[in-house]
Amino acid sequence: MDDSTIAAVATPPGPGAISIIRLSGSRALPIAAAVFRPPGGTFTASKFFESHRLYYGHVVDPKGGRVLDEVLLSVMRGPRSYTREDVVEINAHGGHHAARAILELVVREGARLSEPGEFTRRAFLNGRIDLTQAEAVCEVILARSQRSLAASVALLAGNLRLKLQKIQDVINEIRVVLEAGIDFPEDVPETVDSAALRGRISVDVIDPLQLLIRNYIDGRTIREGLAVTIMGRPNVGKSSLMNQLLEKERSIVTALPGTTRDVVQDSTSIEGVVFYLRDTAGLHQSPDPVESIGMAKTQESADEADLVILVVEAHLPIKAEDIRIYEMIGSKSRIVVMNKIDLWTGSGDGAGLPSIWRESRCLPISALTGAGIENLRAELYRTAVGGVAETSGFLIPNLRQKGLMERCLSAASAAVEDLARNAAPELVAVNVALASDCLGEILGTHAKDDLLDGIFSRFCIGK
Ligand code: GDP
Repeated sequence: MDDSTIAAVATPPGPGAISIIRLSGSRALPIAAAVFRPPGGTFTASKFFESHRLYYGHVVDPKGGRVLDEVLLSVMRGPRSYTREDVVEINAHGGHHAARAILELVVREGARLSEPGEFTRRAFLNGRIDLTQAEAVCEVILARSQRSLAASVALLAGNLRLKLQKIQDVINEIRVVLEAGIDFPEDVPETVDSAALRGRISVDVIDPLQLLIRNYIDGRTIREGLAVTIMGRPNVGKSSLMNQLLEKERSIVTALPGTTRDVVQDSTSIEGVVFYLRDTAGLHQSPDPVESIGMAKTQESADEADLVILVVEAHLPIKAEDIRIYEMIGSKSRIVVMNKIDLWTGSGDGAGLPSIWRESRCLPISALTGAGIENLRAELYRTAVGGVAETSGFLIPNLRQKGLMERCLSAASAAVEDLARNAAPELVAVNVALASDCLGEILGTHAKDDLLDGIFSRFCIGK
């Protein structure tokens, strides 16, 4: 284990009220003592720093006595600290220069600049948190919505770790039973009760894993947001709808067909879930090469979307072009929006839709007056959260974790099949061991350096 003392500015660059310079490692306290001068003028010996106390004073260059800043210095002696090592945080005045000067000084006094995520990596390597919690730290920082923050906080609390450890305990118990059968077959004749083991694996390993993988699918849009493409022929009101959903003037709205030539993107939040909206170019055959590029992008954007909103005009019959666009959507999840309902003079919700469109959800709206927009927002939200009623505390694995859960699941299923056909315990044990290793990789007990490098490189410096 690296015994260097690391340092970083933990706050974002730029002007602000406070900058925090963070130190962690065996030399954090001596370095702090060398640069910190309390009121009264003498430097403090590191042994006099009490843990979990805040000290007022100045950071002073011991060579020459230049005062760098007036600060509050906090001391957290290990193991009661973020990294479990001695940690010192220097609260300096905000702005780049004071923080930079203090960082340079502590580096001169023996610290080294930290790598991205290195404080959290140390917290993980020192056993304060497992890998699911370390990953959650990053997810809390990068959370794109209130809902994804709530989901990340549940991971940070260690709830996924507890669930996986419970599954792993069962796997390990089964492993012990199988291995006893292999090592001492004559002493433990009835050890491998195949039906009981199969039942145990199904109920305590396969079922909870399937539930967590389902959570990934149901919760992915809560975590990552939903990509929504707005499609429709020119002038049906796509840009107006985009502006209504964004509640601002973003796309250019004009009465001339084909003015939204490129794909316009922006995001909005509905009930704490992020929607990435794309307004596409007019989807009609055009001799204008710029528009043709726009149409190719529209198809691309439809292909990449999680959901398509198809806009048609409520007061006019469906045109061949609407049908052509409908066909471009393919099997994607979609909502048909009948816009310009304010121009509809007949009874009901607008002109009839072709019978083949019936399975699509269909909402009458007016992007001009705002009628029906709240309904549409509610429908978008329902599509995003699906069956997830309450998201706080809902455990949503990330892609890496889900991949390993799937590998664990297939190893556990293979073990059940082996048991069902009375395969040798050695063979069953191989799959059971594989299942256990997959969970170990999620929790970080089996994590290799390059995996950790990949995970922590996504962090910011100072975290
Ligand atoms: P796009 O080409 O599909 O993006 O359509 P725009 O959003 O640029 O709208 C084309 C024209 O239709 C503009 O003049 C809009 O003001 C108008 N428009 C859009 N939505 C409505 C609506 O619900 N009712 C009425 N009456 N006009 C609308």
